[in-house]
Amino acid sequence: MAANQPQKRLKRGRSFSQIHSRLMKFKNEIFIAMENLRTDRWITFCFVKILHCNGAYACSFSKAWCKTQRNLDDVDENKRLIVLLPDLFDFEIITNFLEKGGDIENKMTDSQLTAFDRLITFFENIDETSKKIEDARAKAFKGSSWAAVLGVHVLRQLAVSNEMMIDSGYADHTSECPCGCRTPLRVGDNSIGHKDVWHGSLDIILGPVAVIAQSTDDLHEESSTEFEWKTGELEESRNQIIAESIVFSFFQRTGLIPTLGIYSNEFKVFMYDPHYDLLYESSELSLFDGRGDLKSTSVFALWLVINHAQFCTGVKSCHETLGYIADFQSLVQKPALSIYETELQRGGCKHEKSSVWKYSAFDVTGKYKIIE
Ligand SMILES: [Zn+2]
Repeated sequence: MAANQPQKRLKRGRSFSQIHSRLMKFKNEIFIAMENLRTDRWITFCFVKILHCNGAYACSFSKAWCKTQRNLDDVDENKRLIVLLPDLFDFEIITNFLEKGGDIENKMTDSQLTAFDRLITFFENIDETSKKIEDARAKAFKGSSWAAVLGVHVLRQLAVSNEMMIDSGYADHTSECPCGCRTPLRVGDNSIGHKDVWHGSLDIILGPVAVIAQSTDDLHEESSTEFEWKTGELEESRNQIIAESIVFSFFQRTGLIPTLGIYSNEFKVFMYDPHYDLLYESSELSLFDGRGDLKSTSVFALWLVINHAQFCTGVKSCHETLGYIADFQSLVQKPALSIYETELQRGGCKHEKSSVWKYSAFDVTGKYKIIE
């Protein structure tokens, strides 16, 4: 959360002024993006309650399930509230930077300034990037390969912590970007969790953000270009991404942590905060306009989510007051909950065989009598 970041002060002057003057070229674009995101037409969040789940058992992400209820489906209409992006991210600091208001030069951190530098550079090259992505879209990459292409050309370009690792289980098994641009990929063990609870591999880890690709198995071949990742339609993938999001947040324990779900032309965001036991689920947001170009508003929203450590303001007290908690912690209970709290690990926990629910066929050799 921005509030918890060390408030490292900038060396006054040069870099601040340089970045600010480059930013002016995109001032209108950013103001429009912020206006768009203040409405319910782009991306909104709801709260998710887990009714049942297998998070207390040794279980890989691919077998994770949770029966959930969104607050939007609650019988009590007073519970059906949505959250907009500016309720979770610091729009004020962005406005102040654009307008050089509110003593902004003294308030911004180095990493916030770096984040702006990334955004500006991205906008400066957006046409070229759109073209690259469009060529890659024509090749119809699926699942984790498509996420790797977006990771290289979009997500990593926007990120302050742009260290990106692709899980070794990803479909193409290449050490270069699947699009053919020859950008080297860091491929490794992205597993996270603990063998006695939910665990498994995250497709991409980009600094403090997990990125999950829609699994190839779930694609409908004939309609892959127009397919919409509709709420409820791919429940199995949603179960998996909820499990991954919860584990990743428990692992980091730094407040409200987003996990990005990437599917074809859309992305969606889950955010979980273990302290409040609150789980937010966003609507889907399309990355491209009708002509196949990247949408500035979507890029801006992605930039905020990816750089949540710089801009996320965390759980608001009105979200807490609503009381629509995930209930994950009361469902899982101790001792499994203690594993989430203190024993999660990064690496070395790829789909381990279950030690709790391991099925073993019974062996009858020499042990039985036939009933008479
Ligand atoms: Zn590439």
